[in-house]
Amino acid sequence: MPASRSARERKAAAEAGDLANVKIDVGGDGQFVYKISCRECTVKADRNWSAYRPGEDNGFMAAMDRWIFHLKEKHPNADAPCLAYLEAAQQRLHARREQRES
Ligand SMILES: [Zn+2]
Repeated sequence: MPASRSARERKAAAEAGDLANVKIDVGGDGQFVYKISCRECTVKADRNWSAYRPGEDNGFMAAMDRWIFHLKEKHPNADAPCLAYLEAAQQRLHARREQRES
């Protein structure tokens, strides 16, 4: 049986760190939609910074990758468990770019 939405939400929130606000919605097709928004940039910007990605595990990875890049770019001093995946996230980004070019 797949993990419940709230359990996934807690796990993703733990990985994303203190600056992240993680919500999981269930899309019309029954898939989980991960929404990671930034608590700090929510306060400063008119529009919340957030990473929305539909899908099951791909959705999680894609949303978390965008979040990792956001942390790196805007909050270089922030610490979060997900930063351990920075290198993997960069490799995935690189692979997606190469796919688009070929
Ligand atoms: Zn931010």
